[in-house]
Amino acid sequence: MIHLEVIDRTASTQTGPVVCMHCEDPVCASVCPAEAIKQDEDGIVHSSMKSRCIGCSNCVLACPFGVPQYVASIDQMMKCDMCFDRTSVGKRPMCATVCPSQALYFGPRAELERIRPERPVNEFRFSQQIVKTKVNVMALPETTVMDFDVRRFMSGAGEQMNDLIQLSVWENDHA
Ligand code: SF4
Ligand code: SF4
Repeated sequence: MIHLEVIDRTASTQTGPVVCMHCEDPVCASVCPAEAIKQDEDGIVHSSMKSRCIGCSNCVLACPFGVPQYVASIDQMMKCDMCFDRTSVGKRPMCATVCPSQALYFGPRAELERIRPERPVNEFRFSQQIVKTKVNVMALPETTVMDFDVRRFMSGAGEQMNDLIQLSVWENDHA
């Protein structure tokens, strides 16, 4: 339910995993004409409900992080739901379980701050808009808000990601 993006294909074989950021105010859900995407009381934004999704791809176009994927074979949007089948019974998401370097981490934010030198950041600025998320990205210690400029991705895909030190972590308020 996650996918990999290349960082800069001409310079490196490096990839970055793309997980749902579980936005506090998820635009994917607000643009869905079928109310197929639900956010639960723990802030997890679920994947689309099969019985509702009409495969319009509004969510695919609206998500600022490029997360939802339209799957034509089933005519439905699918995305990371933080492995709800696992996390709802106290297990870690599968990606965090298999990551050999713990680049993907699932656990309390306080524990993360203790074990990593970088700072977990969950505020992202897209031009005038600030998006707050449940998922954190590790960044340089002085970073409080991470800026995204789509034009930078278009002119040099590697630059933006090079500003990041590592990839996603989850804040698990209930761990
Ligand atoms: S990252 Fe995208 S798919 Fe995930 S909750 Fe936010 S808007 Fe929705
Ligand atoms: S693809 Fe499905 S989940 Fe996404 S906006 Fe359209 S109906 Fe909603």
